[in-house]
Formats: sequence, structure tokens, C-alpha cells
Amino acid sequence: MVTAIVGANWGDEGKGKITDMLGQDSDIIIRFQGGSNAGHTIVNNYGKFALHILPSGVFYDHTTSIIGNGVALNIPDLFKEIKGIVDRGVPMPKILVSDRAQIVMPYHILFDQCEEERLAGRSFGSTKSGIAPFYSDKYAKIGFQVSELFADDETLKAKISQVCAVKNVILKNLYNKPELDEKEILDTLHEYRDIVKPYVCDVSTYLYNALKEGKRILLEGQLGSLKDPDHGIYPMVTSSSTLAAYGAIGAGIPPYEIKRIVTVVKAYSSAVGAGEFVSEIFGDEADELRKRGGDGGEYGATTGRPRRMGWFDAVASRYGCRIQGATEVALTVLDVLGYLDELPICVGYEIDGEVTKEFPTTAMLAKAKPVYEKLPGWKTDIRGIKKYEDLPENCRKYIEFIEKEIGVRISMVSNGPKREDIIYR
Ligand code: GDP
Repeated sequence: MVTAIVGANWGDEGKGKITDMLGQDSDIIIRFQGGSNAGHTIVNNYGKFALHILPSGVFYDHTTSIIGNGVALNIPDLFKEIKGIVDRGVPMPKILVSDRAQIVMPYHILFDQCEEERLAGRSFGSTKSGIAPFYSDKYAKIGFQVSELFADDETLKAKISQVCAVKNVILKNLYNKPELDEKEILDTLHEYRDIVKPYVCDVSTYLYNALKEGKRILLEGQLGSLKDPDHGIYPMVTSSSTLAAYGAIGAGIPPYEIKRIVTVVKAYSSAVGAGEFVSEIFGDEADELRKRGGDGGEYGATTGRPRRMGWFDAVASRYGCRIQGATEVALTVLDVLGYLDELPICVGYEIDGEVTKEFPTTAMLAKAKPVYEKLPGWKTDIRGIKKYEDLPENCRKYIEFIEKEIGVRISMVSNGPKREDIIYR
């Protein structure tokens, strides 16, 4: 049985916490897309951790953590992260890396930086982790698969020359930067091969057998629906699909095995990077929510950048759930909202004088103005509450209003960053 945990919004919904929680009853946890560009924050009995590339199941000794073929694999980052958790007392996790995963090369990061510099004010707000150049190369068929690290030097040298022929023209003529050194790239590939060797696995065969044995598998998504390159706010999106459906491809399992799609929806909105954000708020109102948000404020887990803040957007969240194929919703960070007298919820977009509840394409989105409905606040701290009936009435009304708007059952309400801060309905 496969469960996907994915985001309905712009990312940072708290998927890491939900994965860490559901990991308790799972055998295998897989990252299937993205790279070390975004982060999950997890608070458990070992402490508080920001994971960027490791699946959020690494804290259990009964789980196997897998880096699927769909991931942008930054090998030094992966091993830095493993060392980081082990140094803090977490037992060495069991990790497998797909032999079909492709590798983020130092020149991908360089190209990301060069392009952001070139675009200056028109940039996509990249985290400069090389993700867009990496996926571009993957689809241009000049990327390096983990399996290729084990090729002989002649084969590697030939491919490196082919890659450099393209890269160097751009470096020299577009970015005015020194050309790549082929020998250095070969050395890097050797170094990566030696680091990754003990973990390399034919993951799709491993998962095929695991499924036959009835193992419980979690797919952990990065970012959310609205950052999907096809269904999100293109071009202000990420470079790999953030949708549960892509879990089948990025892990190497049959799509019909994904039975449960836990879609994580945040009780208010936040976003990093540029792009349309209809229910965005500014000034003191935003600062207050940013300061109180998440666990210790809404600042990027990878970059430390302050996140953009907004009220709950029912239009975007309903679309986000639909495009994920949500079978249930986990509503997170609800505890943060206990300070508000009233809570605006964006229930429609006004575009050219007409109100719609359907999430449009980017050009239309740019014209959209939020239509709000206001609900009364509950003015109390809800952390520590374990039963749904024990939540204040106005808080339950907020949850039920959201549930009606998004049209998917809210099965879990998260009222704090810790594993045990969860209310099952
Ligand atoms: P992810 O990328 O979707 O895993 O999300 P992030 O980890 O970037 O952001 C979620 C932040 O909110 C983290 O700091 C979590 O510790 C925190 N968090 C998760 N769930 C809750 C919750 O219910 N309440 C509070 N206050 N914080 C939460």
C-alpha cells in the first residue's frame, strides 16, 4: 500500500511533520522529486531538524529511506545531511539511492547563479541550488545518472566533452565566465561515485518486491501543487512535478498502487519566491503572522528568506487538492491563528468584474482580486488539545468552513510542530 504526502499550496505546508508522523507506521519512505532546494522542518525527540534532501523518515530505525530516480541528487548535500543528523545522536538511517537518479553537478549550481545574476530583478527567485539547470540537462539528455558513475573513464570523458562543448559556449558568450575544466568534472564524478557506491540500488525492483510483500510505503512530496511546472503558477514554479501522480514515476511504482493521497493544507498562506499570490497580505498584518507562523516564524528552511504571507485561499487550496487527487486533507499550523479577532478566508477571485471559484492560468491570476469572507476568531491557544470536540467552537467552524470550500475531508488537524500535536477526526 502506498500513501503519498503532498502539498496543496506553495510548499511549506508542514509535509515533513506529517511524513515524520505517518513514518511511524511505514516501512519505506521515498523522496520522488525536487532536490535540496527546499526544506522540511521536523521536531521530534532528537531535536529540531531541517531536512533538504533526506526523506522525513530517517529518524526511525525501522524504516528504509529512499532517494528516488525523480530527485535532483546533490551527493555532497545528501552526505552532509546524513552526517548532520548522525552527529546529533540519530542512529545511522538505512538509505538507498536509485541507480537511475541523476546528479546535480557543481556546474548546475554555477549556471543557476549566473542566470539569476543575468536576470537580476526579473529572476525567478531561485534558491541557486542548480535545480532548473539540472532538470534542463536531464531532459536535454546530457545529465549524469548515478549508474553512469560506474562507467569507464573513456566513456565518462567522452560524455564530459559533449557536455562542456555546450556549457562552455554559454559560459563564455552569455555569462562572461571562465570555461569548465573537463578534468575537474571527471574528478568530481569519481569522488561522487566513491561516496554514493554503498547506497546504490535498483529501486524500482526493490519497490516491486516490497509491494508484493505488503510493505507500507510513503511518498514524500516537496513544495506544493501551485509550484508544479504544469499545473502551478508557471513560470514561477519549480522544475519537477510536485504532484502525487508523479510519485509513481519519480519512485518507479505503478500509479494504481497509490491508494491514499494525504494532501497537506496550511491554515493560512505562505509562499517563497516570486509569483502570483492573490490573498497576500503586507505590512504589520503580514509581519505579525510571519513572526507567529510555523515553529519560530515563517522563514525559509534552506535560505532563511522571510516567506510571503497571506490569508487562507480556498480557491487555490481547493484546486491544489483537486490536482493532487487528494483522498484526505491534513490541515496544519492551525494553532498559529489563535491571536486573531477575525479570520478572512479568500472564497473567490474577482477577475475583470466577475467572481470565480476556479483557479485560473497565470495571466488571469495576475488580474485576480481576493473576495473574502470573515469568520470570528477563537482567541485562545489550542496547542495540547487532543480531541476535536475539545477545540473552541469558532475554531471548529473555521475547519468545517475550509472543509466545505475545498470539498475534501479533513482527517487530521495539526495544532503544533511536534509529532504528537495532532487531532484525528
Ligand atoms: P514542509 O516543507 O511542507 O515540510 O514545511 P516546512 O517544514 O517548511 O514548514 C512547516 C513549518 O511549520 C515547520 O517549521 C514545522 O515545524 C512547522 N509546523 C508543522 N506543523 C505545524 C503546526 O501544526 N503548528 C505549528 N505551529 N507549526 C507547525
